[in-house]
Amino acid sequence: MSLAIANSIDDVLTALAGGARPIAGGTDLVVGARQGKSPLPESLIAIDRVPALSTIEQTDGHVRIGAGVTHSRLMSDPLLVERYTGLADAAALIGSPSTRNVGTIGGNVMNASPAMDTGAPLMTLGAIAELRSVSHTRQLALSDLWTGPGQTSANPDELCVCIVIPQTPAYSGSAYVRLEYRRAMEIAVVGAAASVVLTEDGTIASGRLAMTAVAPTIVELVGASEAMTGMAAVDAADVIASLASDQAVPISDLRGSDRYRRHTIGVMAARALDAAARRAGGERIGVPVNRNLGIGAAR
Ligand SMILES: Cc1cc2nc3c(=O)[nH]c(=O)nc-3n(C[C@H](O)[C@H](O)[C@H](O)COP(=O)(O)OP(=O)(O)OC[C@H]3O[C@@H](n4cnc5c(N)ncnc54)[C@H](O)[C@@H]3O)c2cc1C
Repeated sequence: MSLAIANSIDDVLTALAGGARPIAGGTDLVVGARQGKSPLPESLIAIDRVPALSTIEQTDGHVRIGAGVTHSRLMSDPLLVERYTGLADAAALIGSPSTRNVGTIGGNVMNASPAMDTGAPLMTLGAIAELRSVSHTRQLALSDLWTGPGQTSANPDELCVCIVIPQTPAYSGSAYVRLEYRRAMEIAVVGAAASVVLTEDGTIASGRLAMTAVAPTIVELVGASEAMTGMAAVDAADVIASLASDQAVPISDLRGSDRYRRHTIGVMAARALDAAARRAGGERIGVPVNRNLGIGAAR
């Protein structure tokens, strides 16, 4: 096995064109290899020392989050906590402090687990992934990127350089909640993200919901915005809960049966909507919502 360390995006792209695989924090790649899920690739290029991958920039109506930004930064960056709060909620739930200090948004998104925590909030915030190779740059909706558990439509020579999210409008808020059995070193049993825009009278003008760990990929709730537009969030909760349970196609495993997941995703979707609408209305609910509203594991 060979490991090279990149100092620039060009270094990375050249290595990928030569067949290397990127490694950022290594918390999926290395841990997966140690657990025998899949062996380490023959050739690795370390991307964690590329400064251009670790920036958070606001440009022309968007925020661009470098693929190498760690979860610790996502959960504490003032702009993200203020305007993209659902993403900060998700980052704050990931693993342990040491996992969050090295694990990255790019690694989370490109690993494509249906249980990834940043995926659902990114989807409700309208995020796209920017992929680059030596020959081209392209932007892809996350629904087109994730094709199955652990699978993406990215080519092996493409690096995810950043995640691009449109600026959030006034009177908007977002939240991500997950059902978990314990507080750390856990993955979502199920999870739900919501982002909503309110009218001046406090009813819902538009909204999006997405679900974690109830399908082969993170999925957006179809028809959510139409179903809740014009309603108060408190009245929309039941509608959203049954839409979520109806659209979930979970598996049964040792962490929960499909029936249990189908029920609890409705509960989580309603809670995500409630927290997002309260934030949109100006209420300060700290990150992560799970800890501050008593959702998920008690201790
Ligand atoms: C103890 C523990 C607890 C965890 N808890 C959680 C949790 O609660 N929630 C959760 O969602 N995840 C969790 N994870 C999984 C993991 O920490 C996250 O998915 C993390 O974000 C992965 O980022 P990384 O930088 O470590 O990725 P890496 O392991 O470096 O890479 C993961 C994959 O993505 C590819 N990749 C990395 N960066 C790029 C890029 N820029 N462009 C293209 N491909 C790229 C790699 O080649 C590899 O295939 C946990 C892991 C551990 C070990």
